[in-house]
Amino acid sequence: MNKNYKPDILIIGSGFYGTVLAERLANILNKKVLIIERRSHIGGNSYSEFDKKTNIEYHKYGTHIFHTANKKVWNYINKFTEFNNYRHQVLTSHKNKIYQMPINLETINSFFKKNFSPSEAEKFINKKTKKFKTYKFKNFEDKAISQIGKELYEAFIKGYTQKQWGKSPKYLPESIFNRLPIRYNYNEDYYQQTQYQGIPKNGYKDIFINLTKNKNIKILFKEKYNLNYKIKPKYLTIYTGPLDSLLDYKFGKLEWRSLNFKKEIKNTKDFQGSAVINYPDLKNKFTRVHEPKHLHPERQPFNSNKTLVIKEFSIKNDNEPYYPINDEKNRAKHRKYKNEAGKIKKFEFGGRLADYAYYDMDMTISAALKKFDQIKNKIK
Ligand SMILES: Cc1cc2nc3c(=O)[nH]c(=O)nc-3n(C[C@H](O)[C@H](O)[C@H](O)COP(=O)(O)OP(=O)(O)OC[C@H]3O[C@@H](n4cnc5c(N)ncnc54)[C@H](O)[C@@H]3O)c2cc1C
Repeated sequence: MNKNYKPDILIIGSGFYGTVLAERLANILNKKVLIIERRSHIGGNSYSEFDKKTNIEYHKYGTHIFHTANKKVWNYINKFTEFNNYRHQVLTSHKNKIYQMPINLETINSFFKKNFSPSEAEKFINKKTKKFKTYKFKNFEDKAISQIGKELYEAFIKGYTQKQWGKSPKYLPESIFNRLPIRYNYNEDYYQQTQYQGIPKNGYKDIFINLTKNKNIKILFKEKYNLNYKIKPKYLTIYTGPLDSLLDYKFGKLEWRSLNFKKEIKNTKDFQGSAVINYPDLKNKFTRVHEPKHLHPERQPFNSNKTLVIKEFSIKNDNEPYYPINDEKNRAKHRKYKNEAGKIKKFEFGGRLADYAYYDMDMTISAALKKFDQIKNKIK
C-alpha cells in the first residue's frame, strides 16, 4: 500500500463490529475505510473455513449459530447472506447416556426414570429446591442447586462449569449466571422458538467478504495496531481489540478463558448424530464435541463416508481471548482502561474485546449499527 495513503476512517479488527461499521461508512457515507487485522483472515471469531481433507466447512473458533429476536439486525444481515433452516439442538452425555439440553421434561423423565406430566415434573423439582428458597447464595454452586436441585446440578452442570472456568463452582461468584434454563415441556430447541435462526448457506467467511465488497474498503492482514501506528486517518480510528494491550497493560492484564480445538477425521458418515454434544463428566478433559457437517443439512452431508469431529478444551490463555472472567477485580480494571481510552482524541472503540464482554453476533451487529448512528454526523 502506498505510504501516503490516508483513509477517512481506520478500523482495527475485521470481526462483525469492524466490518459492519466499514460497510455503513463506505456504502452510506461514501468514505474511504482501511481495516487493520492482526490475523491472516477476515471475520474475527465468527470466521469459517473448509477442512482440506474432508471439504467440510467448520467454524474455526467454535460452532457459531446465528440467532436473533432483533428484526432490524435480521433484515440487515440478510442483505449479505442467505441462511439455511438449521435449528440448534444441544445434547449432553452423562455416564455414557445422551440427554437433552437445556434440561427439559425429556431430560427429567429420562434421568429420574419417570413419566411425569409437565405439572408433576415442576412439583417434583420444586420439592427438591424448596428448602433453598430463603438462602443467601454465596457462590455459583449454591445458586444452581437452589434452581434445579442437587442431582441434576451434579450430573449436567457441575463438571462442565468446573472445566469451563478452571475452578470448582464453589469458588465462582453466583453472579456468573442468572437462571439455569429448565423447561417443563418437550421443547428441544436450544434457542427461543420465536427467534430467527440459521447458518449462512455459503458460510460465515462469505458474509464478511460481502460486507467489505465496496472498492473504498481496503484490508491489511497480519498487521497489529498500536497507538503509534504509521497510518493516521482523516476523521476517526475505530478500535475493536482489547484495551489492556492498547494501553500497554498499565493497569495490569485483563483475564480471559480461552479454548483449544482438536480436529479428527472419522471414517463414518455420521459420528454423533448432532452438531454439538456437551461432556460434563470430569473423566473427559474436553467440554464439547462438535460435528460441523450437521450445520448444513442442505449440502447433503451424509453422502460422504467421512466426517470431521472437533473436541473443545477450555484453557486459561489471556493472549487468545474468548470469554471474559467477569468478576469484580477484572471489571474494575476494565473501567480504568475504558476511562483512559475515552480520553484519546478522534478515537472510538467497541465490540466484545474492547468492551470486555460476551456478545452474541446479533448483539455485536446491533451495537455497530448504533455506533454508526452516533458517529455519522461527526464525519460528514
Ligand atoms: C466459543 C464461542 C462460540 C460462540 N458462538 C456464538 C454463537 O453460536 N452465536 C452467536 O451469535 N455468537 C457466538 N459467539 C460470539 C461471537 O464470536 C461474537 O459475537 C463476535 O465474534 C464478536 O465480534 P467482534 O467484532 O466484537 O470481535 P471479534 O470477532 O473477536 O473480532 C475482533 C478482531 O479484531 C482483531 N484485533 C484485535 N486486536 C487487534 C490489533 N491490535 N490489531 C489488529 N487487529 C486486532 C482480532 O484479530 C479479531 O479479528 C461465540 C463466541 C465464542 C467465544
